[in-house]
Amino acid sequence: MAWQGLIHKYGERMKLTPGANPVTLHEGNTPLIPAPDLAKWIGHGIDLHLKYEGMNPTGSFKDRGMTTAITESLARGSKAVICASTGNTSASAAAYAARAGMTCFVLVPAGKVALGKIAGTLAYGARVLSIDGSFDTALNLVRKISEDGDVDLVNSVNPARIEGQQTAAWEIVEQLGQVPDWLSLPVGNAGNITAYWKGFCSKPCLSPCSAACLQCPIGTIKPRLLGTQAAGAAPLVLGHPVDHPETKATAIRIGNPARWDEAIAALSESGGHILAALDEEIFAAYSAVARTEGVFCEPSSAASVAGLKKALDRGEIEAAGQTVVCVLTGNGLKDPDSATESSKGLIPTEATFDALRRSILENL
Ligand SMILES: *Cc1c(COP(=O)(O)O)cnc(C)c1O
Repeated sequence: MAWQGLIHKYGERMKLTPGANPVTLHEGNTPLIPAPDLAKWIGHGIDLHLKYEGMNPTGSFKDRGMTTAITESLARGSKAVICASTGNTSASAAAYAARAGMTCFVLVPAGKVALGKIAGTLAYGARVLSIDGSFDTALNLVRKISEDGDVDLVNSVNPARIEGQQTAAWEIVEQLGQVPDWLSLPVGNAGNITAYWKGFCSKPCLSPCSAACLQCPIGTIKPRLLGTQAAGAAPLVLGHPVDHPETKATAIRIGNPARWDEAIAALSESGGHILAALDEEIFAAYSAVARTEGVFCEPSSAASVAGLKKALDRGEIEAAGQTVVCVLTGNGLKDPDSATESSKGLIPTEATFDALRRSILENL
């Protein structure tokens, strides 16, 4: 049967209002792509796979949590939702709200959101409120205003978000036919690392999901989690909030993660590790992912690859011969500025046969 989204596939395994009418854009079921050339770039003999979450309907993993959050909100009879966002949450909330016939308000930090994220959010008809403040300030404001009850909060402090996002863990196990040894992901507000750990710790499914999964390993075998923050926005690595987070990886430009305690618990229970990567390291990984494997993710997503390489290079983790999944959280197309700035750019070529031949020979 054709894919009909996460609630259709996994609804029974999630804590949701029974009988609620799913609001879905057929999210999920994203590719898990083997990445042998990127594995060589990283080194250390790992077996690497990329969970390409940029293939979700609005281009990021946020759609997994938004189908559930908006479904729940609609079932409660809400007319409007609100979120703070570094861009992807707003695009996702706006799309699912449009589908549900609800009004969507988003608060974004002025000048710190990639162009394509704002464009999508506006296209879906959301009210975009741009504030002179960080994501953390925006999140505090929307948390407070949602207490009035007029608008429902759909940031990842909303438990329905985590319910939906945990499905990525289940998909990876189905696609890989096993639980990976390591799961590597970027960490911003820490909703995603919380959700993955919940998914990996949940009860096994009752019906086997694939031939490779006849003995569902979910909940018995668990991966180790590797989290990466940007060096200028690394509260979990430093052990204290960062007042003025700075990084060009804007989706993880967060100084005080809402799910701080859950992230620390997940890291420690999994025997995992968290580290900070410099923007240079994140952007080097960003280019490497696209050039070695033909997979275009956004800079923040590449933190999962940058952190993995750095942790292996420094001997902070060991993973030779082991299976590693890097979560590529968002699609590169939404951030055209980063892509053009970190490439050689266009090659001006005269419109003649000879000039074309010269350009080709010079650039072979
Ligand atoms: C939201 C987001 C993150 C960070 O996820 P958290 O759940 O906030 O830790 C990372 N990458 C991208 C592309 C995102 O949109």
